[in-house]
Amino acid sequence: MAFIGFRCGRCGATYDPGEVRYVCPRDGAEGTLDVLYDYDRLRAALDPERLRAHPARSIWRYAPLLPLRPKTLAREEGAGPLQTVGWTPLYRAERTARRLGLRAVYVKDDGRNPTASFKDRASAVVALKAIEEGASVVTTASSGNAAAALAGMAAALGLVAVIFVPHTAPPAKIAQLLIYGARVYLVEGTYDEAFDLAIAAAEAFGWYCRNTAYNPFTREGKKTAAYELWEQLGGRAPDRVFVAVGDGNILSGIWKGFRDLAALGWIDRLPVLMGVQAEGAAALAHAWARGDPDARPEPAQTIADSIAVGRPRDARFALQAVRETGGAFLTVQDEEILQAMQTLAREVGVFAEPSAAAAFAGLEKAAREGMVGEEEEVVVMATGNGLKDVSSAIRATGEAPRIPAAIPEALKHLRAEW
Ligand SMILES: *Cc1c(COP(=O)(O)O)cnc(C)c1O
Ligand SMILES: [Zn+2]
Repeated sequence: MAFIGFRCGRCGATYDPGEVRYVCPRDGAEGTLDVLYDYDRLRAALDPERLRAHPARSIWRYAPLLPLRPKTLAREEGAGPLQTVGWTPLYRAERTARRLGLRAVYVKDDGRNPTASFKDRASAVVALKAIEEGASVVTTASSGNAAAALAGMAAALGLVAVIFVPHTAPPAKIAQLLIYGARVYLVEGTYDEAFDLAIAAAEAFGWYCRNTAYNPFTREGKKTAAYELWEQLGGRAPDRVFVAVGDGNILSGIWKGFRDLAALGWIDRLPVLMGVQAEGAAALAHAWARGDPDARPEPAQTIADSIAVGRPRDARFALQAVRETGGAFLTVQDEEILQAMQTLAREVGVFAEPSAAAAFAGLEKAAREGMVGEEEEVVVMATGNGLKDVSSAIRATGEAPRIPAAIPEALKHLRAEW
C-alpha cells in the first residue's frame, strides 16, 4: 500500500496512518486531512499504459492509488453493485459546444453509478475502509445522495448503515435509504445540523463515520473521477472542469486526482477548476470573493438540495483547488438551474438532478461572461441522476396536457396543435 499518512489542511501537521482516524486533533473538524502517498514508489510500480489496459470498468482499476489494503480490496469482488462504481460515460456535447462557441464540451454522467450519484465513489471506498477498521456499523449525515450511496454499498457488503438526513430530503432519496435497509433518521433540521449529530452519534455508539471530508477517505474515492477523465480523453487532462459545490469535497477530490497524476508525471498541467454554487447557498463563492482561505457559515436555501450547504466541510481544500488551478467560483440562480436541467436533457440527453444541472448552468454563465476560451476542452460533471428529484424536473417543464382516450376526440385535440 502506498498510503503513508495524513496532512492537516489547516496547520500542516502530518500523521502516520494509524495515528488519527478522522480530522486533525489540533484543529478538530476544521482540520480536514489530506491522504498522503509515496509517489516515488507508485511511479516505480505503475505503468500508465498497463493501467489503461486494466479490464475492470470501475474505480477498482485504480486500486494501487487507493488507501486500502489488498486484502480489503479483495472484498470488492463479488460485492454486487460495489464492483460497478465509477467508469461512468463521458459524452461529447457537440450542440452545446457549437452554441457556446467552444472547441469541445463533455458531460460526465455520474448519475449512471449504482445508486445514481457521484457519491458512490466515496461511499464505496469508505465502506471498505470500515471493514478494514473492523466496524460493522457505518453512519453518515447527508443531504441524501451520500446516504443513499452508503446505504447501497453497506447493503452490498452486509454492513449496517445508520443515516441522518434532513426531513426535507427529496422522497426518492429517502426511499433509496429505506429500501436498502438502512436505519434512517429524518432530522428536524438542516444538513449542517445533521452533520454534527452524526459525529456525536458515531462517538456515542462506536460507529464508523463517513461524514463528507470529516472522513479523509471520501476525497480519495472522489478523486477517481479525475483519473477517468484522464483516461477517457486519451491520456490527458481537460482544460477546464465545472463542478457543483456544496461541501466542496467533489471539487477537492477532482483536484486531488489530477494532483496525483501530476505527481506521477502522467500529466504536465492541471485543469482549471470551476466551482459552481447556488446563489442561496454560496458560502464558498463568498469566501472566494473575499479572498479568504476558509468559509464562514451562512444560511442555505436552494432548490438544489445536494448543494444546500451552509457550512462547507471541505472549505479550505476546495478554495485552494480553485485558487491554485487559476479557476473561479460562480453562483447561479435556482431559475437558471431549472433552465439548465432542461437544456442538459434536451441538448445532451442527460437527465440530471438540480444540483448536477447547476454545474451546467455554471458553464452557461461562464461562457456568456467570456470566462472560457474558444479553444478550450471543457468538462461538466453531471453528479446526480434526475430521477432522484422528479418534482423539480416537473417544476422546470410544467405538466403535460391531458387528452381524451377516444380517438376521434383525441385527434381533434392534436389537429389544433399540429
Ligand atoms: C454531493 C453532491 C454535490 C456536491 O458535492 P460536495 O462535495 O458537497 O461539494 C453536487 N452534486 C450532487 C448531485 C451531489 O450529490
Ligand atoms: Zn491541524
